[in-house]
Amino acid sequence: MGSMHTGLEEEKGGFERMARYFEDRAKGGVGLIVTGGVAPNREGWVSPFSIKLTRKSEARKHSLITNAVHQHGAKICMQILHAGRYGYHPLCVAPSKIKAPINRFSPRALSRWGVKRTIRNYVRCAKLAKMGGYDGVEIMGSEGYLINEFIAKRTNHRKDEWGGSYENRMRFPLEIVREIRKELGQDFIIIYRLSMLDLVDEGSSWDEIVLLARELEKAGVNIINTGIGWHEARVPTIATMVPRAGFAWVTKKLMGKVNIPLITTNRINMPEVAEKVLEEGCADMVSMARPFLADPEFMNKAELGKPEQINTCIACNQACLDHVFKQKTASCLVNPKACHETYYPEEKSSKSKKLAIVGGGPAGLSAAIHAAERGHEVHLFEGSTEIGGQFNLAKRIPGKEEFHETIRYFNQRLSDLKVNVHLNTKVGTTDLIGKYDEIIIASGVQPRSIPLVGADHPKVLRYDEVISGKVNVGARVAIIGAGGIGFDTAEYLSHSDQENHELGHFTKTWGIDREMSERGGLAKPVNTKSQREIHLMQRKESKPGAGLGKTTGWIHRASLKKAGVKTYAGVEYKSIDDRGLHFIHKGEEQCLEVDHVVLCAGQISVNTLYKELEAQGVKAHLIGGALKAGEIDAKRAIEEGLKAAYVV
Ligand code: NAP
Ligand code: SF4
Repeated sequence: MGSMHTGLEEEKGGFERMARYFEDRAKGGVGLIVTGGVAPNREGWVSPFSIKLTRKSEARKHSLITNAVHQHGAKICMQILHAGRYGYHPLCVAPSKIKAPINRFSPRALSRWGVKRTIRNYVRCAKLAKMGGYDGVEIMGSEGYLINEFIAKRTNHRKDEWGGSYENRMRFPLEIVREIRKELGQDFIIIYRLSMLDLVDEGSSWDEIVLLARELEKAGVNIINTGIGWHEARVPTIATMVPRAGFAWVTKKLMGKVNIPLITTNRINMPEVAEKVLEEGCADMVSMARPFLADPEFMNKAELGKPEQINTCIACNQACLDHVFKQKTASCLVNPKACHETYYPEEKSSKSKKLAIVGGGPAGLSAAIHAAERGHEVHLFEGSTEIGGQFNLAKRIPGKEEFHETIRYFNQRLSDLKVNVHLNTKVGTTDLIGKYDEIIIASGVQPRSIPLVGADHPKVLRYDEVISGKVNVGARVAIIGAGGIGFDTAEYLSHSDQENHELGHFTKTWGIDREMSERGGLAKPVNTKSQREIHLMQRKESKPGAGLGKTTGWIHRASLKKAGVKTYAGVEYKSIDDRGLHFIHKGEEQCLEVDHVVLCAGQISVNTLYKELEAQGVKAHLIGGALKAGEIDAKRAIEEGLKAAYVV
């Protein structure tokens, strides 16, 4: 299980919660766990007061985690992460005083004495980790953090023995490893996370990476893990549009160059993907982080040959990384119990009830499976022919195909838990009142129509008609509404059916050089301009897409830019007629002569049944989009379903 910060590290009572979180994963069959990054000193903080390990009193708290994990036979290493110039605080340091493009704080350049002190701090941190019961450490040498900054010319402009030649630039990690090995002895695992593909200008060359791997082996590293891309790189490395195992080829290039095991990582989210990577000789070991948030039982299910039971990570980042970057506790969109295990006891409810759940979208599905797990008799009513609700649209967006997996998981779980699923069934008050102990209404949302002259013109289409493929869309399109669905619709319309979604297409589109002939592994991206002319508009003055996910929004914006989608902010819509869409932009009245205008103007709640029940004095539980349509997303819907299952 790969390293991932959860935010519990800094929370009051967080170590108890982390112990349970890691214990569940160890019990679930993980062999070797790496914790989230821990700073070796204050300068190395990721953000102010984030986790560090510099004292014995801090080390003692870690034994809660290590004891919990060891009970289940797993091993656990603590990651030592010095954030370098990515530290989001005024104390941050770097090899040279060069500000990171993604940080507003400028680093102080470490003095020669400071470099030596930092190395000693790494060693002290490793010793304290051992005291805390860890089986070893992972030295974070990738993603553009301090060690990576020493290695790359991009960030190391030093003139002393820590800069200049490659021999000098790699001295910092090698000294750290040598000293840790010397002080901690042979019976202590040292994993090194090596940046094998920087994806930034003036990153490492392939020859340098191979040389460093060999020197690390000599210095005493036991296992080399793969790091892909600096945080400031403008290439997606883990988001959902990255093909599964889309970077295993990088680790494969290093196979055979060293005699210690290599771990590969990034977008490996199902057992068959991991097996294929191993069979193809890409690596000796596979690391996954987010997939274990999504399903702590992943390994046990894989071992039993039941991958269909796995709750698959869809690589959305919405509840894990996006939370961490906003200083919130991580969780998981498809498994809101993640990092909140202690809030949701596994015991059955004291009284088994008969429940009706109306609506088979994410909220209703989540309520159904969690209520059934708690021992209730669940009846799920869905008006259409299939479960999934809005997920049935999301899964059709290029790059979001992983949503198929979530629907597969819910179907499997409903069947395993013997939930009574009634498809094609629209229920009214008389079907419900007096027949169930509790009623949960998760009737979802419907697209909002807008009061615009010509909104009923034949050119006007709703986003659900478009994405479901029910209508043919012309070559020139205007999209009203640039929220998540406006962006998704633009993405959908900018692709053609003939496109291939192979790894080669991904690497060419995003400018990744698989030959790694230049430093950093970057190449000129190929042109992916859409054959359709697409205009994406909003009334707000803010940047279109500003409200998208913190770690994925830039990818969606970049993707539409590559496709040539034109975005507009501060628009005033006037009318739609045979000519097209009339609007005012920057004080000028304009007409876009388009074939179609697609409405992506948000949603309204579908809650008539709830109101009818209320009028008859029956109190039901209202969840998901039916409760609040504004800013409804799958994360909130699934979490509300889980919570409802614990209050009925
Ligand atoms: P949304 O994000 O609220 O966006 C609605 C859009 O419609 C806004 O751009 C808004 O912009 C416009 N709008 C609202 N009322 C309008 C009106 N009367 N006339 C014209 N335009 C109007 O809703 P959504 O796009 O339907 O997405 C729903 C939820 O799903 C959101 O929470 C979203 O985050 C989530 N989602 C996220 C993603 C993603 O992260 N990639 C993808 C899909 C869905 P103006 O008011 O400025 O015109
Ligand atoms: Fe995976 Fe999304 Fe869950 Fe993160 S929130 S673990 S990316 S499914």
